[in-house]
Amino acid sequence: MLDESNSMNGEMTQENASQEAKPEEMPKELSFGPLKKVYVFWLAGMSCDGCTIAVAGATNPPLENLLTGTITGLPQVILYHPVLSVEAGKEFVENFYRAERGELDAPYVVCYEGSIADESIAAATGGYWSALGSEHLGGDKHRPIPTTEWLTKLAPGAAAVIAVGTCATWGGIPAAAGNPTNAMGVMDFLGKDYRSTTGLNVINIPGCSPVGDNFTETVGMVLLFLQGIGPLPEFDELGRPAWLFNDTVHTKCVRGGYYEEGNFTTEYGGKECLVEVGCWGPVVQCNITSRGAINHMGGCMNTGGICIGCTMPGFPDKFAPFYQMPPGSAVSTNAVRGYAAVIRRLRRMTMRYQNMEARWDEDHHVPSGWGAFEKPSLANRAIHYLYQKMQYANSTRPGDVVHPESLKAKGFHTPEV
Ligand code: SF4
Ligand code: SF4
Repeated sequence: MLDESNSMNGEMTQENASQEAKPEEMPKELSFGPLKKVYVFWLAGMSCDGCTIAVAGATNPPLENLLTGTITGLPQVILYHPVLSVEAGKEFVENFYRAERGELDAPYVVCYEGSIADESIAAATGGYWSALGSEHLGGDKHRPIPTTEWLTKLAPGAAAVIAVGTCATWGGIPAAAGNPTNAMGVMDFLGKDYRSTTGLNVINIPGCSPVGDNFTETVGMVLLFLQGIGPLPEFDELGRPAWLFNDTVHTKCVRGGYYEEGNFTTEYGGKECLVEVGCWGPVVQCNITSRGAINHMGGCMNTGGICIGCTMPGFPDKFAPFYQMPPGSAVSTNAVRGYAAVIRRLRRMTMRYQNMEARWDEDHHVPSGWGAFEKPSLANRAIHYLYQKMQYANSTRPGDVVHPESLKAKGFHTPEV
């Protein structure tokens, strides 16, 4: 249930802290399935709709497959979304009331996009920050219903609550220092004691915007769990899908090899590692470098951008100012430069050798008309000779060319063609 006392102001008591150190066991089995359908109620707080756009562009699995129920084993998703739904006005909002009254014929999931503002601040001047539908107060008076109010009403009965994007997970840009709204994420708002009807904590899928596939895949995994035919997906201590957010950007970055060889660009547009122009990738948990932004295409470093840590709870304040070398990164880049200066040369030497066909080695000639093939220097040949001795110690060096003449000299007969 909602922990109103702690959730609204984000305060942490000692008792809470000790409980947090020993998280409750998550359920391993569920009795809901088999399900034919699951309702999803999408609420938007202070958001730019970027999360909706990202999710609509998901390809693996695509949102439309979830909506049409064409993924084997998964129930059909009936989505009520303020932007994507065909219904509008009272007819649309009535679905939310039905969920609140417990009149739905299937379980429902709540997805929240955008951060949660303190509506009491806006209400003090007669306004609101973000709302869905309105309540008739009599006469011609109406009260916009804040989306936070819907979250408070619907979260206790939800099979799962999923925070989509960094604003909903951790507060994001609307919660940056100096904001007038006291914005926060869903987890802060509902409190650490919140559990869905299936015993789940808030599921967090961060990113600004998140990778759409991260959302649809997680929903698919949770639905399999709700169906009773899949295990509970693994989540980390902050409620992130562990298989998506365990690794850093850096571990799968397309520029990781440049980093490892000590090649750092100092200007935007360079093909090398971007750490010296402000990339935080080595300490940021995000899978966009391997998954891409949409359909395995795009994604920050893949398209020349640095990582500004948009998936992290410390974003944006702890990563600002952007586009400056992250503090402490000079230690690792200088250390890398030291050994990379040697390793890089050795690798180039080996690369040159591996670029030679065995026959060319023997003939001391490269029959290419494309250009002069630079011959290795005496020093390089000497180092390479010693390197090969080491490489093929106790084994035969493969790739030697056997000329017919040398076979004849050894008494072998080769047929004339
Ligand atoms: S661009 Fe960033 S993430 Fe990629 S290798 Fe360099 S530091 Fe790591
Ligand atoms: S690489 Fe960095 S900036 Fe890009 S999406 Fe991931 S966390 Fe955000």
